[in-house]
Amino acid sequence: MSKIAVKNPIVEIDGDEMTRIMWRMVKDKLLLPYLDMDLKYYDLGLEHRDETEDKVTFEAAEAIKKYGVGVKCATITPNKDRIKEYNLKKEWSSPNGTLRAALDGTVFRAPILVKNIPAAVRCWKKPIHIGRHAYGDIYKNLEYRVPEAGKAEMVFTNNDGKELWRGTIHEFKGSGVIQAIHNTDNSILNFAKACFTYAYDQKLNLWFGSKDTISKMYDAQFRKIFDHEYQCNWKEKFEAAGIEYFFTLIDDLVARIMKTEGGLLWACKNYDGDVMSDMLGSAYGSLAMMTSVLVSPQGYYEFEASHGTVQKHYYKHLRGEKTSTNSMALIFAWTGCLRKRGELDKTPEVVDFACKLEKAALETIESGVMTGDLLLVALPNENNRKVCTEEFIDEVAKRLKKKLE
Ligand code: NAP
Ligand code: MG
Repeated sequence: MSKIAVKNPIVEIDGDEMTRIMWRMVKDKLLLPYLDMDLKYYDLGLEHRDETEDKVTFEAAEAIKKYGVGVKCATITPNKDRIKEYNLKKEWSSPNGTLRAALDGTVFRAPILVKNIPAAVRCWKKPIHIGRHAYGDIYKNLEYRVPEAGKAEMVFTNNDGKELWRGTIHEFKGSGVIQAIHNTDNSILNFAKACFTYAYDQKLNLWFGSKDTISKMYDAQFRKIFDHEYQCNWKEKFEAAGIEYFFTLIDDLVARIMKTEGGLLWACKNYDGDVMSDMLGSAYGSLAMMTSVLVSPQGYYEFEASHGTVQKHYYKHLRGEKTSTNSMALIFAWTGCLRKRGELDKTPEVVDFACKLEKAALETIESGVMTGDLLLVALPNENNRKVCTEEFIDEVAKRLKKKLE
C-alpha cells in the first residue's frame, strides 16, 4: 500500500509521562505506516524544556505560527515536587499558558461520543462544545483585604496623567474585601472571532451568555462586541450555512443547556468556561473522552488532549506493571490536526484518513473493547472487555487496517 502524502508540515509537540509513551505508540501503529508526513518535531518533555531553559516551548509556538497547524502531547506543569523529581533549574511556567499567550488563542473542548457510554443528561445526544475565553476577569484580578472602616474608590488615569474617572466602590463600616477585574476590547473581540470561526467551521449553532442585566457595562461590553462582530462579519455566512447565533442571559442559557440535544458551541466567559467545562467533561463520561483545540484569531490551530500526563499510570508503567490508559483523546488530537491540515491543503485523502481512524477508534469501544476508565461508565454488556494501554491501540490498528484496504 502506498502512503498518503500530507502536503504541508505539521508541528509535532511531544510531552511527558504516560501520554509520551502512548504518543509513540499512536504514531508507530496508527499513523506512520500510512502517512507520509513532514513533522516539525519539538520535544517539550520536561527534561528538554529544562535543558533549553524553556526556549523550546517558545520555538514550538513560533512554528505553529509558521505552519498553521500543530498537535501537542500533554506536558508537566512544574511545581515544587517536580523541581525535586527532575532536578530542575527553575519552576518553568505552564507550556499551555505559554502557547496560549503566544497564539492569543481560545481553547475549544468537545466530548467524544460513543453509543455505549450515555451522557449523564438524557437528552444530550450530540456533543456540546465549549469555547472558553482565556484572558482577564478574576484570573487577572487585583484584590485587597480591607482591614478597617474606610472608603474604597476606583480611579482611572489616562497616559497623560489626567484623571478621567473616579467612583466610590463602598464606604466600609468595618473590615471586608475588594476585588477589581478587567478585560480589553481587543481580547474580547479575538475571543468572539475565534468562536464565530469555530462554529462556522463545524457548522454549529453558537450560544453566548453573560449577565448584562446586572453588569450593565462590563458584561454588556461582551454582548456588544459579539453582536457587532456577528452583524458585520458573520450574519450572512451563518444564514447561508443554516446556523444561528443566539445570545441570552447566562442563567437562562444554563437552564436551556439542560434541555437541548447538544450539537452546539457554548461560548463561555473565563470563569463560566472553567466551571462548565469540568461539568460537561464529567457528564459525558471521562476526561479521556474530551478533545481540545486552541484556535488563534489569525487561524492557527493547536490540537491536544484535555487531560494531563496521567502521572499515576506512568509510575505503574515504570514499575513494570500493566496499565490501562485511554489513548482516545490523543488519537483524536492527531485526527483533528490531520483533518484541519487536509482541509487547508485541499487534500481530501488526508481528511478521509482522519475520518477512518476516528471511526476505527469509536467502533473499537462500541464493540466492547475499552480501557479501565470507560468500563466503569459503559452500559453493561457481555462483550465488554478491559484491555491494557497497548492492546487498545492494537485493536484500533486492526480495524483501521481493514478500513484502508
Ligand atoms: P491527569 O493526568 O489528567 O490525570 C488525573 C486522573 O484522571 C488520572 O490519575 C486517571 O485517574 C484519570 N485519567 C486522566 N487521563 C486518563 C486517561 N487518558 N486514561 C485513563 N485515565 C485517565 O491529571 P494529574 O495526574 O493531576 O496531572 C498529571 C500531570 O499532568 C501534572 O504534572 C499536570 O501538570 C499535567 N497536566 C497537563 C495538562 C496538559 O498538558 N494539557 C493538563 C492537565 C494536567 P485514575 O488514576 O483514577 O485512573
Ligand atoms: Mg476548571
